[in-house]
Amino acid sequence: MRKPIVAGNWKMYKTFDEAVDFVEEIQQAIPSPEKVDAVICAPALYLPTLVVAAEDSSLAIGAQNMHFEDEGAFTGEISPAMLSNINVDYVILGHSERRELFNETDEAVNKKVRAALNHGIVPIICCGETLEEREAGSTESKVAGQMTKALEGFSAAEVEHMVIAYEPIWAIGTGKTATADDANAVCGSIRAVVVNLYGKDTAEKVRIQYGGSVKPENIEELLAKEHIDGALVGGASLQPASFMKLLEAAA
Ligand code: PEP
Repeated sequence: MRKPIVAGNWKMYKTFDEAVDFVEEIQQAIPSPEKVDAVICAPALYLPTLVVAAEDSSLAIGAQNMHFEDEGAFTGEISPAMLSNINVDYVILGHSERRELFNETDEAVNKKVRAALNHGIVPIICCGETLEEREAGSTESKVAGQMTKALEGFSAAEVEHMVIAYEPIWAIGTGKTATADDANAVCGSIRAVVVNLYGKDTAEKVRIQYGGSVKPENIEELLAKEHIDGALVGGASLQPASFMKLLEAAA
């Protein structure tokens, strides 16, 4: 049995005050950590404060990106060493917005996954196809290519602790959700990639989230599917009530 994991991706939303109020409001009401892993991936500027605000609860705090080097002349970047030093637990890597708008490559994602593991940070590795790729029938080859590259060079023991997020780009922030069956089929194909690379035991342990317009109304149907172990959620993670409903549905 894989424990569900629901992660909010706040992107570049919320003021500092709003972020702190959110965490203070929900932290004591998070469902049992035995039932669901709850994560908020906040803007980097807020991370140290939110880690402290959430420390007496089971809410984990994650980053939305990081560099792969520990330090160096990389103006504006944040390193894995910096994140682990302030006890950040998760980092989203290879989100389609990073890939499309900030030229993040599969190679960079792979280096970031390595760096995250070196620092004890759980990577949430994103993959997903564009609408054109879906219509051309190349969804599975696209995500297989992205994940094969992202997962290059690890041990099976390392891979089983990773989280993968399947996020069809056409479903992110658009209100369009993949049907639960379609999402499950692609998540199943990603698990098959992990079987090929690292074996069945490892693939059975890796958690695969679906992301793309997940909301309280559709999360249960998605999570009922065999290969969907959680959700990566943008818009519906921004309001405490909505995020709590997602967690309760997953628990
Ligand atoms: C995301 O940002 O990863 C995402 C899935 O956004 P939304 O839930 O708003 O589609």
